[in-house]
Parts: sequence; C-alpha cells; structure tokens
Amino acid sequence: MTSDLSTPQPDDAVEALRADRPFADMPALDGELCFDPAALDAASTDFGGLVSRRPAAVLRPGSADDVATAVRYCRERGIKVAGRGEGHSTYGQAQVPSGLVIRLSALNTIEVHGDTAVVGSGVLWSDLLRATLAEGLTPPAFTDYLELSVGGTLSAGGLGGQIGRYGTQVDNVRELQVVTGAGELTTCSPTERADLFRAVLGGLGQCGIITRATISLVPAPRSVRHYVLTYPTVEAITTQQTKVIQDGRFDYVVGQALPSPDGWSFMIEAAVYDGTAADDERLTRDLAPATSEVRDVPYFDFVNRLAPGVEALKAMGEWQRPHPWYDSFLPASCVNAVVEDTLAGLKSSAIGATPVILLYPVPTARCTTPLPVMPDEDLVYLFSLLKTASPGADSAEEMVAANRAQYDVTRAAGGCWYPIGSVPLTKHEWARHFGSFWAEFEAARHRYDPAGILAPGQNIF
Ligand SMILES: Cc1cc2nc3c(=O)[nH]c(=O)nc-3n(C[C@H](O)[C@H](O)[C@H](O)COP(=O)(O)OP(=O)(O)OC[C@H]3O[C@@H](n4cnc5c(N)ncnc54)[C@H](O)[C@@H]3O)c2cc1C
Repeated sequence: MTSDLSTPQPDDAVEALRADRPFADMPALDGELCFDPAALDAASTDFGGLVSRRPAAVLRPGSADDVATAVRYCRERGIKVAGRGEGHSTYGQAQVPSGLVIRLSALNTIEVHGDTAVVGSGVLWSDLLRATLAEGLTPPAFTDYLELSVGGTLSAGGLGGQIGRYGTQVDNVRELQVVTGAGELTTCSPTERADLFRAVLGGLGQCGIITRATISLVPAPRSVRHYVLTYPTVEAITTQQTKVIQDGRFDYVVGQALPSPDGWSFMIEAAVYDGTAADDERLTRDLAPATSEVRDVPYFDFVNRLAPGVEALKAMGEWQRPHPWYDSFLPASCVNAVVEDTLAGLKSSAIGATPVILLYPVPTARCTTPLPVMPDEDLVYLFSLLKTASPGADSAEEMVAANRAQYDVTRAAGGCWYPIGSVPLTKHEWARHFGSFWAEFEAARHRYDPAGILAPGQNIF
C-alpha cells in the first residue's frame, strides 16, 4: 500500500494539534510543562484571594537550565512569565494572564558549607532552618511565617524581629544564581554583576528569576528567653521600642496593637538568645510595662511560633478568606501620629474578625541593600494592617479601597509601602515609590529584561 502524502496521516494530525497549542515547540526540558486544569487553577490564585488570572501553562522546572530555556522561549515570543514560590502574595503579584508561571518549589536543594547555605529558590524557610539546625547553625533573619519560599521573600525583602541585630533577609545573601529576562543563567553578588544583584534582591521579580541563593549562617542558639511586655498607648510602646532597638540589648524586637475593651493595647515581644533568668532585671527594669511575661522557648519553636495560630486560622476558615493586607514603613518622627489616627478611625469591620496589626522598629542602618525602599530616617517602623474579609466584615473590595486611602496617608507622612500587600498603584506611583533608586532600577530592567516579560502581576512597568 502506498500512502498519499497530501492527505494528513494520524501522526501528522497529532503534530498539527500540538503545533496549535501554546508552548508546543518548547525545547526539551528536565522538568515538566503542565497544562492540566489543577495546575492552571493553582497558579491563578494566591493567599490574597482578590485577583485571579489564569496562565496558559505552568512549568515545574527540573533544573535552573529549564528556567533559562523557558524564559528564552517566552522572550522570543513576547510571552509574559513569572516565578512563583508559595503564592503568598496578596494581590496577584505572582500571576500571569495567558503566560507562563514557573513553579519554583521544584528547585529545593539545600547544601550547608561552613557558614553558608546554598539553597534552591523554592526551598521553604522552615526546611532551611531544620537543615541548618542539624549543623548547629541558622539563617540570621526570618519572616514571621516560615512557610514562604526563599526566592519569594528575597524578591520582597523579608523582615522580622531579628532586623535590629542582622537586618533583613536580603541583607544576608552572599550570591544569587539568576535567570534574567533575556534567558541568561548567571550569578551575581556584591562584587560580580552588582547591578543585577541590587535590582533582584527586593526587586519584586522584575529583572530576573532567582534559582539559587547563597545565604549567610550564624551559630544557632539553643533556647530563647522571650519577653512579652504590654503598654497602654502608642507613645508608650514606641518610646520603649526606640530605646531597646537603639541600645541593642535584645536579639529580637517586634510589636503589635491589640484590640482591647478600652480601645487598643500594645505589646512588645523581645527576646535574648540563650538568655537566663539572671538577665531579666538588667533587660527590663527601665521598660515600665503595664504587664510582663517571660518564658524560655526552644529556638525552632520560637522562630516558628506563628505555626499554631495559623493552624487555628485554617480550622476557623479565616486563612482561606480574602486577605487585603496593607504594609508600610513610617518614619519614627511621625509614627505615633499616624498610628494613633489610623487606629482611632479603624472599625473592627474594616479589618475583620482576626485582626493582626504589626508595629516593628526598623533601624535603617542595618538595611544595606537599596530595596526594599524605606523612608530616609535612622529609625522607621513597619506598620501593617493584616486584614481578613471575614463574614460580616467589610467586603474585600472595600478593604482594598481603604488600603489605597491609607497609602495616601502613609505618603503624606513621608512613609512608603512595603510592596507585599494589596494596593492598586499606577505606573507613575510605582516610579515615585522607588524614589532615588528608580533610575537604576529602570535601567536594570531594560538591561536584564529587554522584552519586558517578567512578573507583570506587580504592574510596575
Ligand atoms: C502569612 C504571611 C506572613 C508573612 N510574613 C512576612 C514577614 O514577617 N516579613 C516579610 O517581610 N514578609 C512577610 N510576608 C510577605 C512575604 O514575604 C511575601 O509575600 C513573599 O513574596 C511571599 O513569598 P512566596 O514564596 O509566597 O512568593 P510568591 O507570592 O510566590 O511571589 C511573590 C513575588 O515574587 C516573585 N517571585 C517568587 N519567587 C521568585 C524567584 N525565585 N525569583 C524571582 N521572583 C520570584 C513572584 O513573581 C511575585 O512577583 C508574609 C506573607 C504571608 C502570607
């Protein structure tokens, strides 16, 4: 039997169908390109639950080379692409409508070499901590919640209560392996391609996708002496926070505003590593709290102490509800006025059934990278309104509108936002946000992502 070459044969039909599909001619990969509804649905959501944009495909890379191959492919075709860690963004930052989401959790190797850890960008901070503790070491700086990816928090900044001692997570990175928007797999550090290093750390995924990070480690304490001190007013808490962050008596300092029958009360959580009861008098005698508690906690449990609360929120259903979060940095010179005014006008319906309001002192001298942007004062405060659109509370849309109004209050006071939350900004406002770093950041974007394909969910360019 002869075959008529002008009539499509079964194999040709399959090929033709494949060719119609996006990414049909992607070069061979070590990992897997997924088109199944479950993968696309998962990449269309995030912790915020406010925005949903469906990608055309999701890549589970088998190697950093896969990331480079896929980005080169997308660049040539003008397809937008974003790295995704754990999707704990709150406003679609890791989503890409009709484009490619690269799910970095597959890059999950951890190697400890002396005082550094070389880790895949999809590694969770909780797993990195477990691995380094086995060697008696720890990353110096953590976020409050450890189930975030290394690449995700290094793209944002990553800050928590160790900031007074060690800075942010981006201050503790020695080297990055990055795939640029041009599809080049490269390394950068403070001394090698420093412009790329500066634009990627805290750079919201705009200039490159981090595939691997080399992170400094320090000796891990065995236990933590954990102090909880309460205060009746904003001024009382910030006075004490300023004192202890400036004299450096604690290894860890954060703070919160808590709803109380009379309005608000305020709490400092401070800690000393490997402290004992003998330290208590020296550390707290001049801090005049309304109440105080102290306990010894194993180091891992201390750093991971949000975990039980997260389980409780999941059981209540609050974790799964929309989270229109607002995070900002305020100069110390106006923190009391802004926080007092904001709390005075804050109805419980505007923040939800499980409000979390953070007030963390941040000594800017400890923050050595240009990003994240912070106000130009020696001491600033992280002020975060972590809202949940609970049943009976304001709608998620109303909360986002309130965030937008709060952003204007923040700007007017000389503050800026910490761009992990839910605030719609125009491109002009983004340029203004980056301030004096904008020209360098924009130049890096043009140099390293010439086709402008990376992380469109941030809406910066
Ligand atoms: C419960 C909770 C607690 C938090 N606590 C803190 C805290 O204490 N301190 C703090 O600083 N922040 C905190 N955050 C914010 C958090 O650091 C950021 O939202 C972070 O980006 C989330 O990491 P992720 O892995 O989920 O990133 P994703 O949401 O997946 O991605 C965030 C952005 O980074 C980009 N991105 C992700 N991975 C990479 C990569 N490898 N290379 C380049 N770009 C990438 C994405 O494209 C996207 O634009 C918290 C968030 C949540 C939900």
